[in-house]
Amino acid sequence: METARQIVESYRGRKLRIMEVCGTHTHEIFRLGIRKLLPPQIELISGPGCPVCVTPAGYIDEAVMLALEHGAAICTFGDLIRVPGSETSLAGARPKGAVVKPVYSPLDAVEFARQNPDKQVVFLAVGFETTVPAACLAVKHAAKLGLANFSILGSNKTMPNAYKALEGSADAFLYPGHVNAITGTAVCEELAAHGVSGVVAGFTADEIVTALAVIVTLSQTGKPFFRNCYPRVVKPEGSPAALKLMETVMKPCDAEWRGLGVIPGSGLALREEYAAFDARLKFALPPIRGKSHPACRCGEVLQGKCKSTDCKLFGTACTPLHPVGACMVSNEGACSAYYQYGDNFNG
Ligand code: SF4
Repeated sequence: METARQIVESYRGRKLRIMEVCGTHTHEIFRLGIRKLLPPQIELISGPGCPVCVTPAGYIDEAVMLALEHGAAICTFGDLIRVPGSETSLAGARPKGAVVKPVYSPLDAVEFARQNPDKQVVFLAVGFETTVPAACLAVKHAAKLGLANFSILGSNKTMPNAYKALEGSADAFLYPGHVNAITGTAVCEELAAHGVSGVVAGFTADEIVTALAVIVTLSQTGKPFFRNCYPRVVKPEGSPAALKLMETVMKPCDAEWRGLGVIPGSGLALREEYAAFDARLKFALPPIRGKSHPACRCGEVLQGKCKSTDCKLFGTACTPLHPVGACMVSNEGACSAYYQYGDNFNG
């Protein structure tokens, strides 16, 4: 019997463009050398599934404003600290007095607020369905403790409407298994019913190659398809507890994605009951329209319209040490993957 690897390696059919929606897949595929197995007919393109990468420059500007003009202590996952805003990053704001504290969990930020009652503490809530439940838990916990000095600056996003916005950009999606572990599979089945093909994939070498083999095989039928190739983690119903938690604390809203613009209904905002924990309301932040570096092509990279190496700043003006765009900063960013694993890519 042919193995998944043989199916992928021996494919000689029509050109197939497969979008790795998730930045973790992008990095794992590079790291494991899977690109070297692929025949020229299979092209892997990066998608918008890195939360740091799709966070627009204006969001960083808001965080910098909170730190410098309102004196708030900013708690955040480490990647966001170096993402450039319109004028500066949070790292760049530190010498001007910004207090920026890396945390490993939103609950760490709540604890920091509890220990520092004289400081306003803002957690940068950036992420997809995988991390939103933790942010919701933090807000509920802060409410339970009655903390008046904790709030979140939200830029949470959900994938379903982004898939619709990306329709036509690839022949099939490699769906992010950890997101589907929360959401379940109904949304992907619905997309397949509307002609959008895709496969949920896990993150080991076997799981990724199996998912690619399933895409290769089912693409030859000429019909739209969906398969869950990560059943050990992803159940059709997802995680009802996490979904209920998100539903209780947050509600859908429109959200701006770097490169994709505003996608209706693709964000999550705090419900009215938790408005006291919304940093934008608490500090009456004005609407901010951020600007990225004019030569940075992150927006196109995130839609699979170009490769990181097509950007003229790649590896010269833009490196992981001196990133010009978010895709070079994040551990899940496509540009950082191309930079880090350059020898392992096939095109
Ligand atoms: S290489 Fe740098 S400047 Fe170019 S698209 Fe990537 S992050 Fe942006």
